[in-house]
Amino acid sequence: MKDKIAVQVDDLTVAYNYKPVLWDVDLKIPEGVLMAVVGPNGAGKSTLIKSVLGIVKPLAGSVKVFGKPYEKQRRHVAYVPQKGSVDWDFPTTALDVVTMGTYGRLGWMRRPGAKQKKEALEALEKVGMLPFKNRQISQLSGGQQQRIFLARALVQNASVYLMDEPFQGVDATTEKAIIRILKDLRRTGKTVIVVHHDLQTVPEYFDWVTFLNVKKIATGPVKEIFNDDHLTQTYGINYKVSIQP
Ligand code: ADP
Repeated sequence: MKDKIAVQVDDLTVAYNYKPVLWDVDLKIPEGVLMAVVGPNGAGKSTLIKSVLGIVKPLAGSVKVFGKPYEKQRRHVAYVPQKGSVDWDFPTTALDVVTMGTYGRLGWMRRPGAKQKKEALEALEKVGMLPFKNRQISQLSGGQQQRIFLARALVQNASVYLMDEPFQGVDATTEKAIIRILKDLRRTGKTVIVVHHDLQTVPEYFDWVTFLNVKKIATGPVKEIFNDDHLTQTYGINYKVSIQP
C-alpha cells in the first residue's frame, strides 16, 4: 500500500524574469514509486526538480520531502544533475567524487575511512565504472560522468532520488544498466523521480508518471493515466504515441 507521501508539492509557482515556468503545481508523490516527469522542452521539468532541492525559490507555494522542507531532509535526498551541467575545473578522480557521496552521512570533521571507500568501490562496480576509478573526472565522457554521478547518489543511501535526464546521450548498454539500478532502488523502497524524454519507454521503465507543461496536466500510475488524452494535453494537438505491446 503506497500511502506515505515522499514528496509533496503545494500550489507551486516559479518564475524567471517574471515569466512563470511552473504555475500552481500540486503533486503528491508516494513513497516507493519510480516516476517519470514528462513534458515538452521548457515545460519546467528541471525547474520542478530544482524546486524540490531548494535551488530555485518559488514565487508561491511549497515543496516538502517526507513532510519537511528540503533543508531539513538534505541527507535523505540524492540528486543526479543533467549531463554536462557540471564543469570540472579541479583535478579529482572518479573514486573521489563517489566517496564524496558518503560525506553527508559522516558529518563534519570525520574523514571517510576503509568502509566508505569499500562502499564507493562497490557503487563504481555497480555502474560498470570500476576500471576508471583513478581517472580524472574531467577526462571521462559525458555518459561516463553520468554513471559516476549515479554511483555517488547510490552511496548516499538516500530515500528520494532525483535525476535530470539520466539517459540523455548514453548508449543502449548504459541505459539498460541505469534502469536496472533504478528498478533495484525502487525494489528497496526508495522513491525515484526522473526527468525523462523517451515516451516510448515510459510504460516499460516506470510505474508512476507526471505530465507537466508549466501546469500539472496529470499525475498517477502509468497503467491508469499514460494515455493519448494526457499526451495530447501535454504536447499539443493530436499527439499519439504508439506503445509496443
Ligand atoms: P525543461 O526541463 O522542461 O526543459 P526548464 O525547467 O529547464 O524546462 O525550463 C523552463 C523554462 O524556464 C524554459 O523556458 C527555460 O528557458 C527557462 N529557464 C530555466 N532556467 C532559467 C534561468 N536560470 N533563468 C531564466 N530562465 C530560465
